[in-house]
Amino acid sequence: MEILKIEHLSKVFGKGDTAVKALDDVSFSVNKGEFVAIVGPSGSGKSTLLHLLGGVDRPTSGKVFVDSTDMYSLNETQLAIFRRRQIGLIYQFYNLLPILTVEENMQLPLLLDEHKVDQKLFDDLVKTLDLQNRLHHLPNQLSGGQQQRVSIGRALMNQPAIILADEPTGNLDSKNSSEIIDLLKMFNKTYHQTLIMITHDERIALQADRIIAIEDGRIARDEVIRP
Ligand code: ADP
Ligand code: MG
Repeated sequence: MEILKIEHLSKVFGKGDTAVKALDDVSFSVNKGEFVAIVGPSGSGKSTLLHLLGGVDRPTSGKVFVDSTDMYSLNETQLAIFRRRQIGLIYQFYNLLPILTVEENMQLPLLLDEHKVDQKLFDDLVKTLDLQNRLHHLPNQLSGGQQQRVSIGRALMNQPAIILADEPTGNLDSKNSSEIIDLLKMFNKTYHQTLIMITHDERIALQADRIIAIEDGRIARDEVIRP
């Protein structure tokens, strides 16, 4: 089943002489439960692509369908709600709110939409992510690996259709990096959570089901390595 469909997606930053075509006519589809690694040189358009898949920014042209919804046909308010419900974003530097506790950071997206917190889901996630003894800590009282586990928990609290991760281990040592990848793979394999991850690390890319290489804003290679 197709969960994501991208059609002729382009993104131009700036105007005139200084315009940069960050993404140039990119099309592909992703099936539910797939783990896709996005690779490519720095500046090739990977983060721009992920932001457009996540509804963080609007494309210059082209369409993104998430679970059949034409995401950019939504107005700003609808898009913000849709994005919080359907997309889980994970960043290299965690993007946690420094003045909120672990528990508050994890529950924030739900509370913004006035949804009730699913206490069982929350408790299960906290246990799986080994954060039981950290719920009332602030982000700066945690290690990098713990902070990234909080950001994974926050992403999963909405039970989103898709998890998008931009270099989620880029700031972590190899032990924490393996733990984070193993967690994301566990959610992907056990719960069929669709996962699209940008990585510079070839060993991580080779653990995916499929590798898409971006060069100069275009798809240079799209290869299924685990059918
Ligand atoms: P990657 O993640 O592959 O390193 P990016 O998607 O961040 O690449 O960037 C692709 C290109 O778009 C680069 O040339 C970058 O400078 C440019 N770019 C990205 N975001 C912006 C922005 N907000 N404004 C202007 N140019 C941008
Ligand atoms: Mg990037």
